[in-house]
Amino acid sequence: MSTKYTELIDKIAIENNATKDEIIEVITSHENDNYLFDKANEVRQRIYGKDVYLRGLIEFTNHCKNNCLYCGIRGENRNVERYRLTKSEILECCETGYKLGFRTFVLQGGEDLFYTDDMLCDIISAIKTKHPDCAITLSLGERSSDSYKMLHEAGADRYLLRHETANPEHYLKLHPEGMSLKTRIDCLWELREIGFQVGAGFMVGSPYQTVENLAEDLLFLKEFNPHMVGIGPFIPHKDTPFKDFEQGSLRDTLVMVALTRLLLPYVLLPSTTALGTINHQGRELGLKAGANVVMPNLSPTRYRKHYALYDNKICTGDEAAECRACLERRVVSAGFEIITTRGDSKVQ
Ligand code: SAH
Repeated sequence: MSTKYTELIDKIAIENNATKDEIIEVITSHENDNYLFDKANEVRQRIYGKDVYLRGLIEFTNHCKNNCLYCGIRGENRNVERYRLTKSEILECCETGYKLGFRTFVLQGGEDLFYTDDMLCDIISAIKTKHPDCAITLSLGERSSDSYKMLHEAGADRYLLRHETANPEHYLKLHPEGMSLKTRIDCLWELREIGFQVGAGFMVGSPYQTVENLAEDLLFLKEFNPHMVGIGPFIPHKDTPFKDFEQGSLRDTLVMVALTRLLLPYVLLPSTTALGTINHQGRELGLKAGANVVMPNLSPTRYRKHYALYDNKICTGDEAAECRACLERRVVSAGFEIITTRGDSKVQ
């Protein structure tokens, strides 16, 4: 092992910063990934100890007006059986989740115009009234700043909006005409301005992505300094234009997770379902490479398989309690422990 590589990792860990060239060097050098993963784990343990935060994911609609080229629930995919959860079904998911120790509920869905701001605000305030000790995270895509304001005032605490790629040309290759990186980034800044804890993030190994693009993703994250970062491998979906592209690699995804921990030591970093889909130990490896959040699925089992963003998604048959128990076992086997508090970000 060359000392040059370990010195570079040490330097990034101490300075929480890196140049584009340094990031590219770490990604392209396969010299000693474990040194990087162990360093990221060390940084995470210094700040968060062995704590792993739980978020209950409620995939409440798979209707979507958009046509992102990678996504299985894109509007033009006629092979999807579409569903929407009612307010009472969503509240039931939260009730089940609350009993299982969840104190954060993540409402995620396609961009579904059926749910007006008023309906969403009504759902959010109903959850908050029933569970005032819980945080609500939204992941509903791009909306107007007025809409974001209303949702925040209704009680939503956090918002996940992956930037998907920080390179504008690459963004155009992943999205249909009419969608732009600028709009996405503007949304992120607005969300932050309104007072949400904000999550950005990207897919690793998405079509046409270069090593430079990955470095740009990390430099953007460093600049934006989000509270949360979601990183998962791209996985093709059979009914999308990207069906014949290769999935992102486990190794590259873990490297990006670890580098994110070194650049943003305080960030909340989930070990994603997509990581668990490409490798049966993927989520455990993610935790050991610096991740500190898991997001078990709370969606009603009968709808699970219809929220297929990519092929072979795991956990589509399990009840909420099974998902929770399975993830707890995985977290413990990786040497960590689940914490059942709101788990707010320590980002300063
Ligand atoms: N409509 C919301 C939620 C999108 S789904 C929004 O626009 O933010 C959440 C994330 O799943 C996306 O941001 C994307 O990064 C990821 N995703 C979608 N399709 C995927 C695929 N084929 N492989 C891996 N991740 C995918």
